[in-house]
Amino acid sequence: ERERARLRERTARSGEYFARAAAVMPGGVPSQFQRADPWPVYLERGSGAAVWDVDGNRYRDFHNGFGVMCVGHANPVIAAAVAERMALGTHFAAPTEGSIVVAEELRRRWGLPAWRFTNSGTESTMDAVHLARGATGRDVIVKIEGTYHGHHDAVMVSVKPPPDRMGPRSAPASVPYGEGFAAGTAAATRVVPFNDADALAAALGEDVAGVIMEPAMMNVNIVPPVDGYLERVRSLCSAAGAVLIFDEVKTGAAVAAGGATELYGVLPDVVCLAKAICGGLPGGAIGMTEPLGALVAEGRVKQQGTFNGNPLTMAAAQATLIDVLTDDAYTRLHALNAHLMAECDRVIAAYDLPAHTVGMGSKGCVVMSTEPVLEYRDYLTKIHHELTDLAWLFHMNHGIFMTPGQDEEWTLSVLHAEADLQAYVDAFEAFAREVS
Ligand code: PLP
Repeated sequence: ERERARLRERTARSGEYFARAAAVMPGGVPSQFQRADPWPVYLERGSGAAVWDVDGNRYRDFHNGFGVMCVGHANPVIAAAVAERMALGTHFAAPTEGSIVVAEELRRRWGLPAWRFTNSGTESTMDAVHLARGATGRDVIVKIEGTYHGHHDAVMVSVKPPPDRMGPRSAPASVPYGEGFAAGTAAATRVVPFNDADALAAALGEDVAGVIMEPAMMNVNIVPPVDGYLERVRSLCSAAGAVLIFDEVKTGAAVAAGGATELYGVLPDVVCLAKAICGGLPGGAIGMTEPLGALVAEGRVKQQGTFNGNPLTMAAAQATLIDVLTDDAYTRLHALNAHLMAECDRVIAAYDLPAHTVGMGSKGCVVMSTEPVLEYRDYLTKIHHELTDLAWLFHMNHGIFMTPGQDEEWTLSVLHAEADLQAYVDAFEAFAREVS
């Protein structure tokens, strides 16, 4: 309560903005995921690894716009590319060369031959589901229990289902995520636990169009795949004639040049991207195999949108993927992340915290559990949720900007420096001292 009161005091102006916002925006926020307790911190600007709120507080940003800003805030390279494009016109709904350059770069990174653009992660996974159904003539989509893939019907199922509705682990229920769906919608999505290839094998029938999954779960902290899991998923999908979709909206360009696909060496039929690939502008992409690309080219599966391949977004994506997130940048990001994790591990050991670290590329987190978390149900039962909440408050009060809630991870940018990491560790150590 003391830390919560401190946060209220430090961010009083955000509280005023929140009251004003609540009069025009349901819940006082533009998007449900921006809610926070006691209120969202309203930001004014960002530069490099720092953001400033409306009370004038400066934070070192580890939230990074839900992992979008790997390029850092107001990165001069991105700013120049966007400004140059602005002067040439920002929207035609006709293709520009930028879209070719970005598609070529995504093909190089992911190894999938055919690419189209979208405006968000939601659109990428929605198009992927259409592709799976169009290619197979089947209806059912299999998804992993607990994961979020955006806000369209096929995937708004069992996104963190409440324990009293999720059913037994051997037969997880398909629980609609909120209200607003036609009756029976959720039944077209079958749910299986992560990291359990046998459960997936049992769920794959002749009615299954595709399997959508994050190669590593990124919304219950980070849950990496166990050895051999993705390889088995790949072969099970091939054998069942189901389209394998990797949702790399979060992992994508944030964890390696070719995302988790490159890290784990398993190639899906479709990859969904968004977030970090466009350097802070809204945009997304889907990569696919030749046969799936042919379905799109022939117009059998409709993949379209007024803003797809928008020139401004493409200029930002080109600068992000080609000029900023270079191989050297990934090497540095990985080194920074390893250092931050090692420092957090040192604090965990020194204060005997019931916790461990997990990381990938530019992303990492402290998981408040001594045991590994392998799936959503572990996250419910093994994690010390109160400690996680308190750590969030300590970070915010110590000038470390974090994703609201307790389920996410930090994301580093190319503009983070050692001093930023040290500040994170200092805040974490203050928390550890308090609770030990
Ligand atoms: N897929 C994953 C894994 C995500 O984390 C998200 C958003 O957080 C989405 C899809 C949806 O992306 P968007 O919010 O851009 O629609």
